[in-house]
Amino acid sequence: TNPVYTGLPTTIFEVMSRLAIEHGSINLGQGFPDVDGPEDVRRMAAEALIAGPNQYPPMMGVPALRQAVAAANKRFYDLDVDWKTEVLVTSGATEALADIITSLIEPGDEIVLIEPLYDCYLPLVRRAGGIAKLVRVTPPHWKLDADELAAAFSDKTKAVLLNNPMNPAAKVFTREELGLIAELCVRFDAYAICDEVYEHIIFDDREHIPLMTLPGMRERTVRIGSAGKTFSLTGWKVGYVTATPRLLDPIAKAHQFTTFTTPAALQTAVAYGLAKEDAYYAGLAGDLAKKRDRLASGLARLGFGVVPCDGTYFVTADIAPLGLAASDVEVCQRMTVEAGVTAVPVSAFYDGNAPSTFVRFCFSKQDSILDSALERLATWI
Ligand code: PMP
Ligand code: GLN
Repeated sequence: TNPVYTGLPTTIFEVMSRLAIEHGSINLGQGFPDVDGPEDVRRMAAEALIAGPNQYPPMMGVPALRQAVAAANKRFYDLDVDWKTEVLVTSGATEALADIITSLIEPGDEIVLIEPLYDCYLPLVRRAGGIAKLVRVTPPHWKLDADELAAAFSDKTKAVLLNNPMNPAAKVFTREELGLIAELCVRFDAYAICDEVYEHIIFDDREHIPLMTLPGMRERTVRIGSAGKTFSLTGWKVGYVTATPRLLDPIAKAHQFTTFTTPAALQTAVAYGLAKEDAYYAGLAGDLAKKRDRLASGLARLGFGVVPCDGTYFVTADIAPLGLAASDVEVCQRMTVEAGVTAVPVSAFYDGNAPSTFVRFCFSKQDSILDSALERLATWI
């Protein structure tokens, strides 16, 4: 029989969520909030659904949302963006990544990525025929080595893919690190694909710095955002891409043949949401910082080696101090089955030879859920 391609792996989020459901476990694995985002934003979507039209909206996205994305780029980062030619709406950041990688990467192109990697990066790059040049950062410091980074770039480099704030590391890149990356992009004439879905989930007075704002980067950077993260509405799958027309054009071509468009009512509501007052954005990060502290201090009390978290809604913890004599994968399985708490093994975010004693917990959950998870773990350990 004709063989079927089996090269695509099962994502760790699917693996762990399935196991969590099977065992009635508290799911701190897959990253999603357990409380829906702002009611006014949801109401706006409901009204837009009733009022219609409910037909294909424009391929590039509803004008109101493209305008709102351009306005947010100005408001938060002082970036001047032409909403007509430099903004594309996609069905989630995931579609954006697929459109970008399939349109910009050709077989044999090298692409620099930093491990740990968000789940879809490597499968998409490799399916496009790209050659991944991996630069590794490891817990607990996630320090980026300048020489290793430089060594990953060459004349064959087409692009670097950067996730900042970084999932699962919860690392926020410093201006110095970003400067290094920008310099290499300019020197090797490489593009930068910036997954910035956690741009507003950043803690302790840190500032999100889009790589696009660094010298020489405006014309060579593709910046991705997601309403799923910014409005705690992950099921909506509304993403947006900002890039110079020369880069955005081929990406929009890929979008034509992938989804063509994204539900109009959701786009209209996200346009409204992006214009929300500063207090909304401060509240999002402030609430999550408290949850981070709640979970992190609880895990530390139980003996986990908690790794600092500067952004995202994930905290990584070292299980080595618990003395369980098992790998992160085994511990995540046992924790789900025996303790009723699910986390994700950090080794799943590396392309082999990974650190094997770190697990990732999502803390975008109600306080009572975080407390229950900690109580269950206390009984189990
Ligand atoms: N990139 C990163 C780093 C993510 O964590 C996620 C979602 N968890 C995505 C992309 C995908 O975002 P979306 O749900 O908008 O497709
Ligand atoms: N981004 C989420 C996470 O890191 C999961 C999204 C998904 O399941 N694809 O957990």
